Amino acid sequence: MSDYIVTIGLEVHCELKTESKLFCSCVNKFGGEPNSHTCPICAGHPGVMPVLNKKAVEYTVKAGCAIGSRISRFSKWDRKNYFYPDLPKAWQTSQYDLPLCVGGEVRFDVGGEEKTVRLNRIHLEEDAGKLVHGAGFTAVDYNRCGVPLIECVTEPDIHSADEAVAFLEELAGIFRYCGISDCKMQEGSIRADVNLSLSRPGEPLGTRTETKNLNSFRSVRRAIEAEIARQTEVLESGGKVVQETRHFDDASGTGYGMRSKEDAQDYRYFPEPDLMPVVLSDADIDAIAASLPELKRARRARYTSELGLSDYDADVLTSDPAVADLFDETVKLGAVAKKAANYIMSEIMRKGKTEGEDGVTVGVTGAQLSDILSLVEKGEINLVASKDVLDKIWQTDMSASEAVDKLGLRQNNDAGEIEKLVRDIIAANPGPADDFRKGNEKVLSFFVGQLMKATKGKTNPKIAGDLVRKLLSE
Ligand code: ADP
Ligand code: MG
Ligand code: ZN
Repeated sequence: MSDYIVTIGLEVHCELKTESKLFCSCVNKFGGEPNSHTCPICAGHPGVMPVLNKKAVEYTVKAGCAIGSRISRFSKWDRKNYFYPDLPKAWQTSQYDLPLCVGGEVRFDVGGEEKTVRLNRIHLEEDAGKLVHGAGFTAVDYNRCGVPLIECVTEPDIHSADEAVAFLEELAGIFRYCGISDCKMQEGSIRADVNLSLSRPGEPLGTRTETKNLNSFRSVRRAIEAEIARQTEVLESGGKVVQETRHFDDASGTGYGMRSKEDAQDYRYFPEPDLMPVVLSDADIDAIAASLPELKRARRARYTSELGLSDYDADVLTSDPAVADLFDETVKLGAVAKKAANYIMSEIMRKGKTEGEDGVTVGVTGAQLSDILSLVEKGEINLVASKDVLDKIWQTDMSASEAVDKLGLRQNNDAGEIEKLVRDIIAANPGPADDFRKGNEKVLSFFVGQLMKATKGKTNPKIAGDLVRKLLSE
């Protein structure tokens, strides 16, 4: 069996999180009663006129700036004509020969090595509606119709399922950091088409197939693996790969051909007569470029090299830009990086996961968190109590110190008072005290427990342990 080189190019669609749709003022929001986010424009009534959403252009340019594209000073709109029930106008307003962003690249790590995938273009277009299949009927929901979508087309630089998934994760991370898309696979706000071919070393690229509309990283991986196996079998048995559009069925894990691949001419692209071209000045573009935040990869590198975090910690903290922002803010306010990282990864991210259903993954500010950390550091509250504090201040603007007082959690660190309590407890428990003096270390926790009980848990356990040991050894 001969070895084939796998060549993959991806077309990635991401919905932009603008307030309104691309060409009308309907709300851009996932879900809702079917056809409740619609108007004559996005429902494709004849004679209506589209009005371009400026924010969508800004977000597309931002995406391009983030990956180093050349931003077009002049780009235009084209109609891509095809008939399908989810497309009421029977054309999609898209960009054909003059997209907003040209070129660019994404760098990421895969299998411990750095890899670069070049982008061919990013263009802006409108999303189509959704078909809902029932028993014996199909209904159509136009809520998604007209939602702004960027299509990012890569060069054929990807050579395995691992690389494809790592690329998609990096791209989604970049867009989330830019604040232009949530890239939520489960809501279909990022979807990928996989173009894949096999060739022998030294020979030109083989015939490709395009598997459409994969909406999870897992199905991208499975579809690639299935298609590599299928094309290998075709070639090995002396056949030819047919250029076609394929569909991957997640349930069965197999792909099947849908139609022979359409060419650009099948879409009869022509310039959109109802929209002006988009003209951007250098100043427009500079302003958008200047609004880019520090991106994920740069932050991860900074966390390991400057702040001394492990690769693992840096990965976890940068997985959500809101979490990374919180970490940066907290450290800026004087928290020790490693301590802030640990606390965020254990407490904040745990809480964000369970309570973040409204999309809020971080419910405290850097100021609130650095306050909690310094109260713990100074021994005024312990870690267990800090969780109650967190609950109290989550998504409010109450300070941690105020919550500590309200909850009556401030630890009793008055050395004289605690010492007296410990002496009383030792006097009341001569047996265990003797055991300790004979070398039974385990009874130490008994005494600490008694002290905690006497102070209702408000003693710093470290101070308590040290003191008990000292007084027992007298
Ligand atoms: P089309 O306009 O027909 O969709 P493009 O030239 O825009 O075709 O390419 C679409 C995608 O297919 C791109 O991501 C590109 O990198 C990829 N691609 C092109 N040729 C091949 C090939 N032989 N094997 C795998 N991918 C390819
Ligand atoms: Mg294509
Ligand atoms: Zn509308």
